[in-house]
Amino acid sequence: MLANYGYKDGSGEFFIVVDTDKCDGCGACVPACPAGVFELVENQYDIDAENPIAAVTKEHSKKLKYSCGPCKPASGYDKAGMACVKSCETRAIEHSW
Ligand code: SF4
Ligand code: SF4
Repeated sequence: MLANYGYKDGSGEFFIVVDTDKCDGCGACVPACPAGVFELVENQYDIDAENPIAAVTKEHSKKLKYSCGPCKPASGYDKAGMACVKSCETRAIEHSW
């Protein structure tokens, strides 16, 4: 299942998507993100799953454009090169912008 965290406003849509079927709860994205965007939570999407999954914290879900701003300079950026995406070996993390 694709879990979406974020919002849209007048300047765009700012969502981080965690594929809960790909996420194995390894936790690598938590320390990898310099802004502390991720946390591990109980997997409420699969009641048979024993592993936790990554989620965007409630605090950051409301200000993702700004939380991720330092990783996304106006001059352009490589989505595959972002620390969160690089840290995830199962490729469970995607960004909408
Ligand atoms: S883009 Fe940067 S700040 Fe945003 S979640 Fe990824 S590592 Fe964290
Ligand atoms: S690095 Fe990927 S697999 Fe590991 S907890 Fe984060 S999203 Fe899940």
